[in-house]
Amino acid sequence: MIMQTDGVLHTMESQDAGRAMLDFIAELYPICRSITGEGVRETLRMIQKRIPLHIHEVSSGTTVFDWTVPLEWNVTDAYIKNAAGVRVVDFKANNLHVMSYSSPVKQRMTLEDLSPHLFSLPDYPEWIPYRTSYYQENWGFCLSHKNRELLKNGEYEVVIDSTLRPGSLTYGESFLPGESSDEVLVSCHICHPSMCNDNLSGIAVAVWLAQALAVRQRRYSYRFLFIPGTIGSITWLARNEGTVSRIQHGLVLTGVGDAGKVTYKRSRRGHAEIDRVMAKVLKDSGEPHAIIDFFPYGYDERQYCSPGFDLAVGCFMRTPHSEYPEYHSSGDNLNFVKADSLVRSFARCLEAFELLEHNRTYLNLNSKCEPQLGRRGLYRAVAGHQEKQSKELALLWVLNASDGRHTLLDIAERADLPFRRIQTAAEALVEAGLLQDTRKTQGEPIKEAAS
Ligand code: ZN
Repeated sequence: MIMQTDGVLHTMESQDAGRAMLDFIAELYPICRSITGEGVRETLRMIQKRIPLHIHEVSSGTTVFDWTVPLEWNVTDAYIKNAAGVRVVDFKANNLHVMSYSSPVKQRMTLEDLSPHLFSLPDYPEWIPYRTSYYQENWGFCLSHKNRELLKNGEYEVVIDSTLRPGSLTYGESFLPGESSDEVLVSCHICHPSMCNDNLSGIAVAVWLAQALAVRQRRYSYRFLFIPGTIGSITWLARNEGTVSRIQHGLVLTGVGDAGKVTYKRSRRGHAEIDRVMAKVLKDSGEPHAIIDFFPYGYDERQYCSPGFDLAVGCFMRTPHSEYPEYHSSGDNLNFVKADSLVRSFARCLEAFELLEHNRTYLNLNSKCEPQLGRRGLYRAVAGHQEKQSKELALLWVLNASDGRHTLLDIAERADLPFRRIQTAAEALVEAGLLQDTRKTQGEPIKEAAS
């Protein structure tokens, strides 16, 4: 478990967490996942060993808004054998070799006839590309360009032992109740075969966040979704339309393990609390990062931020998918994701949730001129060492801006001070009887969360 002290990770614990996340990614890596099928179920069962998870099955053919839950796809074997009977392309060596949702095939054909069904990357001749054909019946093989160039003219035996049958779409949901029914959504996709940054990194960080939040006092309820991309979020939204308005804040987690800097993509609203929180957390972290505006392409934020829902859901990632060549290829492997990046992604998300939890509005109970802080031991209580001045400044900012209309985030932004410093100042002022949570003044009972 990662401990945080003023946003700084304890090195030993963060190294352990990073290695453990990488180990979990390595366990999930060999599984052949797609948008439906046994690979998704196996993945969810492995997540279920770590966090409480409700696994849902939605029948093929179910209408979900403008879409239909597809047939279930499973594959047991696929290969291309040359005239000598040698497997020159073998699904068992790497599951990326078969195009996802390939229909079954068993025939002999010439290289010329086979070629339109082969996909390779001439610019990256060592990597196997990742291809899918979910909504149009087709079949294909993906192979490294280097391997492709070794194929000689002649006859090949082509086999894809797959099934496309009525079954179901499977997704997992983990719910952590809080003091309030207002929810924070964390969503990640689970539909890619052997790729690490694209899908497995998001899964690992989401699992670690669910574990960390489970043992904390929670003002918000937290909902974690492990879903196939696009069709999964559409299906979930269709089945939960009546309660979606409980979601106050959310993050889609994707590509959170590469060595690049953090990129936060704002929600469609652009200035939602989660957008401001993430910007503050990233600024306070002192790490290089980028904040980009919403655009209707990318991951499941496209569905959560569709105009009929317009949820305050942003996308937390490191290098955007279009900006690294390993994307959607065998180059996105166990070497491409880093323990340190996973841990830092985890820490930033947890800090964002901590900020949301503590972003309250207070009322200064001594608002006519400044109260005498020295007499109450406040300067000493929170200062004393270095940065004394900014700690005093934090106290003065909280007192001055706490007129019942400004949240602690408003104050931290305006003062340009780290949120933790503003939060600590507010806690000290409450302790000294100079500040009161506005929920108290409005008569709302403050319950202790059962967690
Ligand atoms: Zn992808």
